[in-house]
Amino acid sequence: MGVVCSFVHTLSGFIMTIASPNGSNTPDSSSKTAKSLEPRPDRNTHNGQEAKVPCPAQVSQDEMMGAVRTMLLGVGEDPEREGLLKTPKRVAEAMRFLTSGYDTSLEDLVNGAIFDEGHNEMVLVRDINAFSLCEHHMLPFMGRVHVAYIPNQKVVGLSKLARIVEMYSRRLQVQERLTRQIAEAVKEILEPRGVAVVMEASHMCMVMRGVQKPGSWTVTSAMVGVFQEDHKTREEFLNLIRHQPSFW
Ligand SMILES: [Zn+2]
Repeated sequence: MGVVCSFVHTLSGFIMTIASPNGSNTPDSSSKTAKSLEPRPDRNTHNGQEAKVPCPAQVSQDEMMGAVRTMLLGVGEDPEREGLLKTPKRVAEAMRFLTSGYDTSLEDLVNGAIFDEGHNEMVLVRDINAFSLCEHHMLPFMGRVHVAYIPNQKVVGLSKLARIVEMYSRRLQVQERLTRQIAEAVKEILEPRGVAVVMEASHMCMVMRGVQKPGSWTVTSAMVGVFQEDHKTREEFLNLIRHQPSFW
């Protein structure tokens, strides 16, 4: 499958590298690496197996546009009126873009930007903007992601963490899986001593429809390795993501 993805840098937050009091100096945890995480497929069937779906290239642009046209008719619209003439094409293109993360591999994304720095203190990138589509309604959910890890010598270029968030966001998702996939990806590329990911997001399927609760937001987290095992390290991370930066 051809991979044509242009990435927009979504890192609007700030980056910090902080010293962890529970870092490499702790003898009993220095040899620990992140606990194993079972990778989960992007698309589940009812029995938990990965779904067999046709390659996106096999679903033609015309078919997608036809489906949008049918939806327009279904909501009582006239697809021939001027304002809607190009809507099926626009929607099809937008959907391709918003799900382009399926065509990106972690390997291509990281592209060798892993460095053996011998750094063993917590690295945290906070407030990464994320925009995704919930797989239940195909409506947006959006918010911020905080990604931290405690390296085991290896570090990754900081912008790559934002790009990992972007890659998994541009798929049909549930917030819990998105959070976990980001943690799994960091674990896979760096084999760090721990990974922590927290996502805070607002779901349009809750805000605009359903329970209609504007202002509600959902927090999900995935903790691996020392973040799971050591409450001090976890607390330190949680305090750091609560703190408001003074330069903001
Ligand atoms: Zn939903």
